[in-house]
Parts: sequence; C-alpha cells; structure tokens
Amino acid sequence: MTFSDIIGNEGVVSALRNMVDTGRIPHAMMLYENDGCGAMAIVQAFLQYLACTRRHDGEPCGECLQCRQVSKAIYAGVRYTFPVTSGTKVGGAVKDLTCDMFSSWWKELLVENPYFTESELSTALGFEKKSGLIAVAEGKAILQKLSIASATDGYRTIVIYLPEKMNVQTANMLLKAIEEPAEGTLFVMVTHSPESVLQTISSRCQAIRVLPLEKEQVRRALVERFSCPEEDASIAASLSGGSIGMALRYLRGQEEASALEGLVIQIFTSLLERDLYGLLEKAEEAAALDSRERQKAFCSEAGAVLRQIFMVQQGMEDLAMVPPSQRAFIAGAARRLAGTFPRKAMDIVSRAGGMIDRNVNQKAVFTNMADSLFMSL
Ligand SMILES: [Zn+2]
Repeated sequence: MTFSDIIGNEGVVSALRNMVDTGRIPHAMMLYENDGCGAMAIVQAFLQYLACTRRHDGEPCGECLQCRQVSKAIYAGVRYTFPVTSGTKVGGAVKDLTCDMFSSWWKELLVENPYFTESELSTALGFEKKSGLIAVAEGKAILQKLSIASATDGYRTIVIYLPEKMNVQTANMLLKAIEEPAEGTLFVMVTHSPESVLQTISSRCQAIRVLPLEKEQVRRALVERFSCPEEDASIAASLSGGSIGMALRYLRGQEEASALEGLVIQIFTSLLERDLYGLLEKAEEAAALDSRERQKAFCSEAGAVLRQIFMVQQGMEDLAMVPPSQRAFIAGAARRLAGTFPRKAMDIVSRAGGMIDRNVNQKAVFTNMADSLFMSL
C-alpha cells in the first residue's frame, strides 16, 4: 500500500508523509474514522513509507524487503493489536487470548481488503456475534514486544485497532509505555469511537481525523479501482455514507444474497421435479455455507420464497412482491405445488433455522430439512 493508493484524505496523507520526511513523528497517534473509511489503509501506507529503505518522491519504493514485508503485514517491526474473543476459530478464556492466536486471519483480511469493516473483522476471526476485547494477555504481549531488542533497524510500532475496546487494566499496563516511550517506539491507533477511548490513553495521542469521502469519490473508486459496474457503484456509493469499506460490504452482500437465492431456487426445483437425490445434494451445499449466519440467511430466504408461493396460490400476486427475475419460477411453483405445502414447508424451514441457532450439526439439520420437505409434497 503506497500513499498514491489511498483514496481521498489528501491532507492526512501529506501530514503523515511530512512527519517521516522531517523525522518529526509523534510517539503516539490516534486516527479517528467512521467504520471502513480507510484509516487502516492509510496506516499501512504510512508504515511502508516509514520502513522503506529506498523512499523517493514522497512514496515508498514498493520493492525493497521492508516494503514487501509491510505490505504483507509480516514486517517484524510492527505488532498489530485488535479486540479478540473466543469463537469458532480460537477458543478459551478471553483474558488469556492474544492477537498472535488470530494473526493469520488478521493478516489475510488486512492484505486482501484494508477497507474492512468491524463486522467483517468479527466474521474473519470467527467471533460470530460476540464483541471482542483488548485484555491483559495482549497488554503483556505488547510490553514484551517492546522490551526485546528490535529485530529491525527502524521503529518498533504497535498498531492498535479499536483502542476503545481496551479494558482499564490493560490501559493501565500500557500507560507508561505510551507516555514515556523508549527510543524508536511508536503507537498508531485507529478508533471508530474516540469518546469511548479511555481518556488516559487518548490524551497522550496526537489526534488525526480521517474523513468520510464524497459520494462521487466513492463511486469513482468503486469503478476505477474495484472494477465495479457503473450502476452498482452508484447505488453502493449512495448507501455508503462516504465509507469505501461499507460500499464494498454492500456489494459483497448483494453477491452473496444472489448466490443464496440461486441455491434456494435449485432446492425448490429439485422438489418440484421429485428429485430426492438432487435435493439432498443441494441440502449438502447449504450445510457447507461458510458460516451459521449464512446458513440462517439461507433458511430465511427459503421462507421468503415459500411465502411468495403461498400468496400467489391465494391470488395475492400484488402483495407477494416477487422480483421480476423470479416471477416465472414462483408462478410455476404455485401451480404445481399443493395448496397445503407452503405452510408445512415454512414450519420445516423455520425449525431448521432455529436448530442452526442452537448449534445443532449443520449437515444433519439440512438433510432432515430436505427429507421433511420431500415427505410433505
Ligand atoms: Zn521500499
């Protein structure tokens, strides 16, 4: 990530560039942004510029070892701290968790999409719906990192993503290191809620505001840098609140929703054709969806399709609000399925969604669901 990769926020970029050029870098900074507005992308560009051994024309070279390591988030001079909790990827008591246990997923997300949103981070780290914490074990790990001699010639940087999730104990542990940092130590924090950061921490940081982008800037970036079709880009930009991350999340959500919709239609097509084998195959695909959230979304989508079939059977086409792309399918299904089927099937599908919530084995849930649907025909 170089400065020229950063979308908008020219003022922030030039201030950070200037700090490095003049050697006047505050030992603690806190970037404040709305979720997904690109502060982590800016931090990555800054760290790369700082570490680069062949900076020129205000940009990192992009080729030296340091540049390559920072851009892959594997540079030994940087430690990334972020809120964590136990979940599907790492278990155990929250107070014992450190970010090292999650670092492979963190790096993957940061490198692939530096505009990630908080909820995308939670998903990537397997938190499900729980919210993370920066607790004492992580505080200790930071102090340890600072106590050992630097593995690199340059700065030792601690990046803290969401310092508002740090508890008081941890903050107290770090106060001295932030207030009287050892030579070459740098703290860079990214917050979404500066008023929730403990005052003892925020008062010691230089504050930098990362602004939301103009709608037009978001739209152009989506088209030019993310190869998004014009029409989708306009919709995503107008819903984004100036956040590239939110716009990208919306677009991915659209893609996922249409993939789920496709799977639901395939399941009902197998049912209509009385194709039990095909039906079970599709049920396995539903069980293999990559999170419980998506499996539940599949159940809701199936419920919505059944409701539409029911309404069309009752002659309430206007209320069914069937999207044009599905009209032919829903009308055909309404004609071919018994009038009693949609209600029975809605119960079956909603029961399956409930079991997914209660952590019942997914494959068993979806196989049973497919069987019961078939029996209700
Ligand atoms: Zn370089």
